[in-house]
Amino acid sequence: MLNKVLIANRGEIALRILRACRELGIKTVAAHSTADRDLKHVRLADESVCIGPPRSADSYLNVPALIAAAEVTDADAIHPGYGFLSENADFAERVEQSGFIFIGPHPANIRMMGDKVAAKDAMKAAGVPCVPGSAGALGDNAEENLALGREVGYPVIIKAAGGGGGRGMRVVHTESNLLSAIDMTKAEASAAFGNPQVYMEKFLEHPRHIEIQVLADEHGNAIHLGERDCSMQRRHQKVLEEAPAPGLTDEERNRIGARCAKACIDIGYRGAGTFEFLYENGNFYFIEMNTRVQVEHPVTEMITGVDIVKEQLRIAAGLPLSLTQDQVQIRGHAIECRINAEDAATFVPSPGKITAFHAPGGLGVRWDSHIYAGYSVPPYYDSMIGKLICHADTRETAIARMNGALSELVVEGIKTNTDLHRALMNDAAFQMGGTDIHYLHKKLGL
Ligand code: ADP
Repeated sequence: MLNKVLIANRGEIALRILRACRELGIKTVAAHSTADRDLKHVRLADESVCIGPPRSADSYLNVPALIAAAEVTDADAIHPGYGFLSENADFAERVEQSGFIFIGPHPANIRMMGDKVAAKDAMKAAGVPCVPGSAGALGDNAEENLALGREVGYPVIIKAAGGGGGRGMRVVHTESNLLSAIDMTKAEASAAFGNPQVYMEKFLEHPRHIEIQVLADEHGNAIHLGERDCSMQRRHQKVLEEAPAPGLTDEERNRIGARCAKACIDIGYRGAGTFEFLYENGNFYFIEMNTRVQVEHPVTEMITGVDIVKEQLRIAAGLPLSLTQDQVQIRGHAIECRINAEDAATFVPSPGKITAFHAPGGLGVRWDSHIYAGYSVPPYYDSMIGKLICHADTRETAIARMNGALSELVVEGIKTNTDLHRALMNDAAFQMGGTDIHYLHKKLGL
């Protein structure tokens, strides 16, 4: 097993990693900014190192400071969490070149998945279903691009190979707009991502977002832990997630899951990862792979009983996966609500001091959060202050349990989006299950 892990992140995921390390007897180092001295995991870690001022660019994205922190504390591995440097291939490479274990995939795999054209090519070759569209990046030949548009069928979407976070995309409804849309997306992509390559996909009109969780070790084993439905989104940001996806059959799950596990073996993938798909009319279409642990991993943990972060640590230590595909059993239903420090109606962030706090509890209720009474939510980072996860035998009971847990949660002094989640738990379409990725926008009147 690993001896000491440096946690290169903050908030709830830093605490989540610390808890997994403790269970495995691994010592922890909290690398934190000056704004985060009072974070719960900083207080609980065996050691802590300040890596810079509040601005992420000077601290959580400060590669030399993180490497130096690992050196001075004699850590043997670095866990990047999610966000920040977690999908930065150069960082992963620097970590390895400096003699530390990067708790994540090989840098080459991170780099491949960061280039969406390369990622799609690799997935097609591995037999993962992709959205119909151009074979690779679009060329400069106008006639060829127009012909391709006709073949794919309108509407189409032009996407930047280097895009991310919902940026660098343009939907085209008619042929007369195609060429200008390609030119504009190329110019933007070149300026924003330093990579002018763009590609074309069929634009799916009412898809759901369904993703497959995978784990792969360095002994040639890869498994999937089923899917999560993350269709409830606002501006491409997930608001709540659930597992399993309402209405998905065992047959569909096993077929797409097996494809993803096999793709991991084909590309030599290591660690935890997520294959994201758009799902429409019973078909899966790969859009991208996330090469890290995700915010919504707990819903999968609740229905499978597999501790995904502990598996990441085991894999990084060179151990085989602790279970085989046959041993993965899906039990019941889990829902996760992302609790943000923001106004439930306007979504404006609401940092500040938490004056009173009570956590919900009871059977099947999990609260993953770093907050406490007296803690001040800093204005510099993401507004998520916790994740409320409820697990039950059925989806209906999980919703009822979440309703109760949301009403038990007390956070005073700042605003939270709890009321939005309560409204969703009582929304007829959500209760029915299977809403598409545009549902929340429409509900909010956007
Ligand atoms: P990013 O890395 O920016 O998140 P993605 O490729 O994952 O980019 O796409 C982000 C979102 O854009 C998707 O979740 C979906 O809402 C929308 N989108 C992307 N491709 C398509 C498509 N072919 N059809 C319809 N919507 C799409």
